[in-house]
Amino acid sequence: MAVPDPDETDRGVRIRKIVHVDMDAFYASVEQRDDPKLRGRPVVVAWRGNRSVVCAASYEARRFGVRSAMPALRAERLCPDAVFVPPDFVRYRAVSRQTREIFLRYTDMIEPLSLDEAYLDVTENKAGLPTATKVAKAIRQAIREELNLTASAGVAPNKFLAKIASDWKKPDGLFVIQPDEVDAFLPPLPVERLPGVGKVTADRLASFGVRTVGDLRAMEIAATEGYFGRHGLRLRELAFGIDENPVEPDRPTKSISAEDTFERDISLEETEEAIRRMAEKVWAASRKEERIARTVVLKLKTAEFKILTRSLTQPEPPASCEELTEIALALRERVQMPLGQRYRLIGVGLHNFREPGSDPGGEATQPELFDGETETERLDEAEPPAPDAR
Ligand SMILES: [Mg+2]
Repeated sequence: MAVPDPDETDRGVRIRKIVHVDMDAFYASVEQRDDPKLRGRPVVVAWRGNRSVVCAASYEARRFGVRSAMPALRAERLCPDAVFVPPDFVRYRAVSRQTREIFLRYTDMIEPLSLDEAYLDVTENKAGLPTATKVAKAIRQAIREELNLTASAGVAPNKFLAKIASDWKKPDGLFVIQPDEVDAFLPPLPVERLPGVGKVTADRLASFGVRTVGDLRAMEIAATEGYFGRHGLRLRELAFGIDENPVEPDRPTKSISAEDTFERDISLEETEEAIRRMAEKVWAASRKEERIARTVVLKLKTAEFKILTRSLTQPEPPASCEELTEIALALRERVQMPLGQRYRLIGVGLHNFREPGSDPGGEATQPELFDGETETERLDEAEPPAPDAR
């Protein structure tokens, strides 16, 4: 063993080059590209209907405060002159495949996040370009010239920094975070910029005086872990710009879910509104998938951090947002907890994604076709009880 394996000696010092490409206002931009009458006008991509949500808004519409995932009715109030266009996912998917063809000229290491976003590992690139920045520029140029669309790109040594970078100069921008710039770039950012920091975590961090990534860096490691458990250690790594997650090519979606932690613990009866909201989010996200899911899952976390899940698998996937919502609400009836039980979180999910047109159950799952219902109950050990933050 006199000669060390070069892979072994390189491990830990090899700097990765990650590009995050994010199409600008993707669905709305495709609509404007394909219909000249829509160019320069506020365009909102959404189905009509009382409960429908905005799938995408053009930058002209965003100036009025319209954002994706907001109720379509609200968008209409904010921007009465907006042109509403129903989404055409067949066309968006076709364009998404074209962007992938462009990425493939430079790397096979492509991890799509949705139809309009992907991580690319270009540590080695097929075109032999000298830097990742040149790869990102070439990709943006090809998207502009060949597809008549714009994309923003971020270049960084890991995935989470590349994603922050792609957002930095959006729309139609390119931003590069060099490895030796990370320590200057991260500390001034608000903690909300870190992945996994939602409102609840941000509020708890703020109660300890932690508002920026720099504050988080300065927090005692024992305190970070004591208050936030394993999640805290992960946040600390991110604060120091560490993210070893690899780009995972073509990881098929296994499930889509959305969950919400309440400001205060609430009763089962009070969860209806949140269930409806989460079902809408999940439904909108599932429209971006080529594959379909038959299993609807309702998740509840009690005030004591016990997790309950109830699920229903039917021969056909839910056909509409309304049906998904009805199933999720019906699953709530299967929760049998003592009267007065309070809950801190609810989640709605779609599981078991399959190719459309494939045998709905597959042979292995035939037996559950008509009474496909499962139930699990377990204690969530990953999350420590919340200390009183007030
Ligand atoms: Mg986008």
